[in-house]
Amino acid sequence: MRYCKQCLSTDLRPNAHFENGVCIACMYSDKIVFDKPAVKLHLLQEKIVKSRQKQRNKGAYDCIVGVSGGKDSTRQAHWVRDRLGLRPLLICCAYPPKQMSEIGAQNLSNLIEMGFDLIMATPAPQTAAKLALESFVKFGNVCKSTEMSLFSTVPRLAIELGVNTIFWGENPALQVGDSAVEGIDEFDGNSLRKLNTLTEGGSDWLNQVGSHDYLLEHYLYPDEIEFEKQKINIFYLGPAWDDWSNQDNSTYAALQGLSLRPGEENITGDISNASMLDEEFTNINMMLKYYKFGFGRATDSVNELIRINKLSRDEAIEIVNKYDGVCDDSIIKNFCRYVGISVEEFWRIANKWINKDIFDIKIAERPGRKFVTGVDYVG
Ligand SMILES: [Zn+2]
Repeated sequence: MRYCKQCLSTDLRPNAHFENGVCIACMYSDKIVFDKPAVKLHLLQEKIVKSRQKQRNKGAYDCIVGVSGGKDSTRQAHWVRDRLGLRPLLICCAYPPKQMSEIGAQNLSNLIEMGFDLIMATPAPQTAAKLALESFVKFGNVCKSTEMSLFSTVPRLAIELGVNTIFWGENPALQVGDSAVEGIDEFDGNSLRKLNTLTEGGSDWLNQVGSHDYLLEHYLYPDEIEFEKQKINIFYLGPAWDDWSNQDNSTYAALQGLSLRPGEENITGDISNASMLDEEFTNINMMLKYYKFGFGRATDSVNELIRINKLSRDEAIEIVNKYDGVCDDSIIKNFCRYVGISVEEFWRIANKWINKDIFDIKIAERPGRKFVTGVDYVG
């Protein structure tokens, strides 16, 4: 396992790409011109105008903004309406009631109260639970099916409603360094369909959970032909802002009434207390990610701070050692209850996905780390 020389990304990340020992996220941030956000905003505006000329929208909305109950949603919705001067319709693929947190529900209400129209789609809860278990068993990822429905619902409804311009917040290629979704430029989100979570394993496995076909539609990303027919364009807003990072977004959103989860970093492992507010099972995935690739969510958070010179690599290592892989037993218990397995069964499945080159599997204990954070490990 190799580390990026500048941050704490490892080369075990899916679609990782290093040049001269530096990861693509660090390479991008070295290239970003921080003093020209106005130019970027102008570029984005030109693209939006072109996209809207291609196809007349059916109704009164200019565009669709994909939202959750999280911190980015608040800012995205406001920015599209107030800064870009568009009439947005918000679309949210909600979690099933047993998965959605109280905070997530509050934050969605908060968003509507600020004067937005919102369409919410919710997948059948029983099917969602079955698919979550199947995702875990088959891919070692408790959120795969959930992510499939989150990403697919927005373009699916955009096509149905005849509104062709879609906005998402962050560009995954730039933010965490997933090179598979790189588009023709930093705003282009039309390659989102190549996201690992959407492509890995195809879609046939969905049929194996014994649910009705029509309930699975919800999870399928519309194909390129449908995109082309409706002239669908997805844009990332992030690159047009000079201050797009997790920390700035949560500060902004909190000022607008978003509820955060203060003091829970020892339970969730989330040092920002602001990500994944709408449900808690993602925390399990963040733990699993650590056991698979040698880095977790704390690493992603500190990497952003390293890139803007707010944290040194050594200070970051200390934080990572404390919080990467943290996910409280209570969250695991809730997930087990949701999908109908025992905690023993959970760890039996999880242990199959742990990277044994960098972790030791232990009986009735969490896996033990063999490597030293920030130092290349050859085993
Ligand atoms: Zn890096």
